[in-house]
Amino acid sequence: MTTTCRKLAVFPAFHKVSGKRVVVVGGGDEAAAKIRLLSETEAEIVIFAPALNREAGAALIAANGDWRGKTPALADLAGAALVFVATGSEEGDREVHALARAAGVPVNVVDRPELCDFYTPSIVNRAPVAVAVCSEGVAPVLSRHIRARIEALLAPAVGDLAGLAEKLRGKVAARIAPGAGRRRFWARFFTGAVAERTYAGDLSGAEAEAFRALEMAPERGHVSLVGAGPGAEDLLTLRAQRVLQEADVIVHDRLVPEAIVTQGRRDARRIDVGKQRGRHPVTQAEINAILVREAKAGHRVVRLKSGDPLVFGRAGEEMEALAAAGISFDVVPGVTAALAAAAENRIPLTRRDASSALVFATGHDADGETLPGWAGLALSGTTVAVYMGRAVAAGVASRLVAAGLAPATPVAVVENASRRDARSFTGRLDGLARIAGGTDPDAPVLIIIGDVVAAGAGAVASALLAEAAA
Ligand code: SAH
Repeated sequence: MTTTCRKLAVFPAFHKVSGKRVVVVGGGDEAAAKIRLLSETEAEIVIFAPALNREAGAALIAANGDWRGKTPALADLAGAALVFVATGSEEGDREVHALARAAGVPVNVVDRPELCDFYTPSIVNRAPVAVAVCSEGVAPVLSRHIRARIEALLAPAVGDLAGLAEKLRGKVAARIAPGAGRRRFWARFFTGAVAERTYAGDLSGAEAEAFRALEMAPERGHVSLVGAGPGAEDLLTLRAQRVLQEADVIVHDRLVPEAIVTQGRRDARRIDVGKQRGRHPVTQAEINAILVREAKAGHRVVRLKSGDPLVFGRAGEEMEALAAAGISFDVVPGVTAALAAAAENRIPLTRRDASSALVFATGHDADGETLPGWAGLALSGTTVAVYMGRAVAAGVASRLVAAGLAPATPVAVVENASRRDARSFTGRLDGLARIAGGTDPDAPVLIIIGDVVAAGAGAVASALLAEAAA
């Protein structure tokens, strides 16, 4: 059987507990944990235990629960919504379990799956939205780990957004006929300006925006220029991840790995505008036209670029085209390649005794006869991170040396920074052409030039020191 068609031994459901009695039997740490969990709900919490330890006592007070200093009788459990049992002894657990069964109340006995009618999930609370994670009692640590990831994914204000939706539900139903139009309204509501204001903490602004959206019939599209980071999935920002999941259309470059593009909604349309060898390249003008066309059709568009969108990403032209077409847009920053390359090799990009400035430079306009514009800065000790520099490495190095930069200036060449297949090479400026020539012609390569390369704490520095000593 494949993992996708395995069946669950449980059916996830959400119990209504508002104003109902939920009983916890036990006064130790386990009972305290259940009391704390239940205190996230509107249940009336009643604890049965001859004695409470400090944890349980504190949890009881915080949860405003009732304490009965005895073991429960059948009548105490009858009519309760749920019973949690953690008496601390197997015999005690079994007795209460039997009572709960007799009373017909679903029961959970902590750490005894064979005595459980239901499992306790790990909960993400964004009331009225709840996410519950369960591993059928097999791997509670995994459940907690998954829960932490979902916590990070769901902005705390998701609950506020759901609350606002509840408030407007009647008005929307009265104004927009059921069907595609209404679905579209809600899709926009949960992903557009209303959601953005809510996440920014501006609840009254969000409400005003929601009313405006209700008034205005036609939907307007929006473009987000999003930085995908250097390639590693976990270097994507939380905001980029959220915006991706809200996109109707994702327009991406070749350098953005598949694993990141697929973090978008499954039914989002993907348009690959990457320049690939042997394929007709999509021109910048065509890309601009695609963005404008998709936004005008009312879609939420994510323009996904590697690294940071504002660093050598031609974002300027795209923003100009969007502004000219009257389309709203925003920018989500990303980790640019130079930072990933430096981190990969533990190279300090600035250092008090070596370099007080950092330049993001491109090798592209450096293939003429003249020195690139940033050469003067390199001469005065600035660290230079060269993007798109592989093909022009030889020319850049020889002209920098001719202009007076020491041939022994340390350089690092980093291929596929932050990815699993990352490779780093180090050496001297006068060997840069040879080093760059040895890299994979299909992989992105970033070059760092400057004394800081040898001042790093990592393998790069030791390699350079060894080379210098030899
Ligand atoms: N906007 C991107 C840069 C796009 S230009 C950013 O901020 O990183 C493309 C160039 O970026 C490549 O030629 C290469 O020089 C560099 N680059 C992008 N990703 C890289 C990576 N993972 N490792 C090394 N260099 C990378």
